[in-house]
Parts: sequence; C-alpha cells; structure tokens
Amino acid sequence: MKIPESPNSTAMAASDGVKAAMTIGIPTPIMEMAVTRAVFAFLARDCLDLFDSPDRAALRWCADAKCTRVFIDRSRGQRRRWCGMKGCGDRAKAAAYRRRQALPLG
Ligand SMILES: [Zn+2]
Repeated sequence: MKIPESPNSTAMAASDGVKAAMTIGIPTPIMEMAVTRAVFAFLARDCLDLFDSPDRAALRWCADAKCTRVFIDRSRGQRRRWCGMKGCGDRAKAAAYRRRQALPLG
C-alpha cells in the first residue's frame, strides 16, 4: 500500500516553513526547526514506504558490532553481511587476515 500524500501532512507544513524561511535569507531557529521537521518527515515517509514494500524481507543490520546501519540485501545469495565494503567490510576482512596471520603454523 502506497502512503497517500496529504496536503496537510507534516512534510508539507515543514516544506512550507523552509520555503518561507529561505525567502527571508537569514538562518533562524525557526528555519532550522523547519528543516529538521522536513528531514524527519521525509525519513518517516521513506521508512513507511520501505516497510510496506517487498524490500522489507531483505532488510538487514550490518554485522559490524559498532555499526548502526541497516541495508537492503539485494545480493544474489542474500548472504551480504556488511552495510558496505568501504568501512565495515574492509575492517572485518582485515581483522580476519590479522587473526589468520597470528595463528601458529602447523
Ligand atoms: Zn556497517
């Protein structure tokens, strides 16, 4: 189910606030609040769309214990572990390599 757009939605109200603040041209706390509200409104809408889509079944947490990212696993085998190879994947592979090198031979 697609979430219908509403002219009275929070995103529209925040967007109007941003436009009004930008015409003034001076950053104000009201403008910052409007931008923050707009960002959260768009994020909330995207989350609702994602949870109502087939991609929901492929949603995964990154395997890095320190990472807080989620990703959509569109890999062929659906065995992707990290949010990305730059960063989490590279760190995990480097740590595995160091562990193998530290093991005694034989
Ligand atoms: Zn990660």
